[in-house]
Amino acid sequence: KKVADRYLKREVLGEGTYGVVYKAIDTKTGQTVAIKKIRLGKQKEGVNFTALREIKLLKELKSPNIIELIDAFPHKGNLHLVFEFMETDLETVIRNTNIFLSPADIKSYMQMTLKGLAFCHKKWVLHRDMKPNNLLIGPNGQLKLADFGLARLFGSPDRKFTHQVFARWYRAPELLFGAKQYGAGVDVWAAGCIFAELLNRRPFLQGTSDIDQLGKIFAAFGTATSSQWPDLAYLPDYVEYQFVAAPPLRSLFPTASDDALDLLSKMFTYDPKARITAQQALEHRYFSSAPLPTDPDKLPRPS
Ligand code: ADP
Repeated sequence: KKVADRYLKREVLGEGTYGVVYKAIDTKTGQTVAIKKIRLGKQKEGVNFTALREIKLLKELKSPNIIELIDAFPHKGNLHLVFEFMETDLETVIRNTNIFLSPADIKSYMQMTLKGLAFCHKKWVLHRDMKPNNLLIGPNGQLKLADFGLARLFGSPDRKFTHQVFARWYRAPELLFGAKQYGAGVDVWAAGCIFAELLNRRPFLQGTSDIDQLGKIFAAFGTATSSQWPDLAYLPDYVEYQFVAAPPLRSLFPTASDDALDLLSKMFTYDPKARITAQQALEHRYFSSAPLPTDPDKLPRPS
């Protein structure tokens, strides 16, 4: 069945946050694509102009580490977003116990993640829903960030859909304290959680509620204080937590190099204004010291 006279529908790939995702062939280019069908239940007028204008901006976000939004069109009351098709994702790689990830491989994945982030942040676009299954991996090992800008366009997914609870584990403390104004730091915090997950091969801070998530963060890095983070007590959902001291970071990441630990600690800085930016992280000595990042096409692949 053809959609919009151009895309030949194939199998369903999965049910995502915003709706069904299916595989399709672009008859114009012969390229395999993934089409995300987004339900637009609430808008009576169908796709509103603001959304379409913003999607146009997303179409212009082109970088080797960002999934390309090839096309977007309304069809039968749903919005269809057409993306390049990707073979696998970082969550699948991390969970696959047959795959050994060397320090150089981890560095390569982090470099690609931060390059994608730095590119979008430079254009003032936040991701807001960074997690390993949003980091897709192509046939040549290239990692690309998926769903850029969608969280803001279509609302925070995890509030509306219960299967989305995992996003909490990647949530920055300012979001957990209800900050209404936040910036690129939320993506850097999430990237730090992904870095931690690559090192330890399991999700780092697995909170069971927002309160518990903050508890897990404070247990790892020590309770946040106003001296580290001056705006802390003014956040909408601020509550005082019992003081806990930080254990040595090294004890949480026994396999990490000193450079890796230093970068991690800068990505996990509480005050978002003091947190390292994606661009600064790319310039950190972790990426220029040995072992150098693995070439993407030499990264281990699932067999
Ligand atoms: P979620 O919202 O839970 O992150 P998505 O909506 O991103 O899920 O995707 C749902 C399913 O479609 C997942 O199984 C995912 O692997 C697959 N998928 C999403 N985008 C692509 C893509 N560009 N290429 C291949 N598969 C994709």
